[in-house]
Amino acid sequence: MRGDWHVHTRFSLDSDAPVREMLDRAVALKMTDICFTDHYDMFFLDEGFTFDVDEYFRVMQEYREEYRDRIRVHIGVELGLDTEHTAEIGEFAKSWPFEYIIGSVHKLFEKDPYERADYDCTDEEFYRAYFLRCAECIRANDCFDVFGHLDYVVRYGYSKAEHYSYAAYKREIDEILKALIEKNIPLEVNTAGLAKGVGFAHPHPDVLKRYIELGGRQYNMGSDAHDAAHLGWGFEETEKALNKLVFLQSIR
Ligand SMILES: [Zn+2]
Ligand SMILES: [Zn+2]
Repeated sequence: MRGDWHVHTRFSLDSDAPVREMLDRAVALKMTDICFTDHYDMFFLDEGFTFDVDEYFRVMQEYREEYRDRIRVHIGVELGLDTEHTAEIGEFAKSWPFEYIIGSVHKLFEKDPYERADYDCTDEEFYRAYFLRCAECIRANDCFDVFGHLDYVVRYGYSKAEHYSYAAYKREIDEILKALIEKNIPLEVNTAGLAKGVGFAHPHPDVLKRYIELGGRQYNMGSDAHDAAHLGWGFEETEKALNKLVFLQSIR
């Protein structure tokens, strides 16, 4: 199996997964590469969502050495984007030798989209606002290698993907895709959607088709696993679907 480029461990505040457990599972799945991308969201709501980066590099480099004959270990990060702290976020990204930075949007109106009940609006307004926020964050930041889980917000709506389609959000999604293409930033294909019941990997296949239509060509794949059981989740079926999109090229 190919590599998994979106993996969380106990360094993320929302995961308890031991690094070794993730590595052993990746080796068992015969993966060529694994890239750890723990959450670093300096300005996430009031408290931040971060880890001790010194310890992270020390621990990950030790594992990389120990597992070097079995799998290539990459040290990355999933970096939270916003539009108010771009200088600080960019400075952080440059200060450490991350091999791979996923830029993700995890807050909307200073709240967490995961907590749907905190928003007093319809799902349609919720999704539309999130997409516009993503486009703004992509335009405002230059510190990331790939844009994470484009339509993950539909996991948290009351109606989930029931009324969601590319066509219904064409204007907002096109803003995202155009910003990525102009900045030459690849799109992440994030299989957590398959694990979390929306029935597709993020973004929806129709969004990928539109990305190609607009001239987008590059993607990379990750499971967003927060435990070993979800590592490489849905990779085979997603890979088959991606292979049919002949213009799309994996960056890894
Ligand atoms: Zn994320
Ligand atoms: Zn993630």
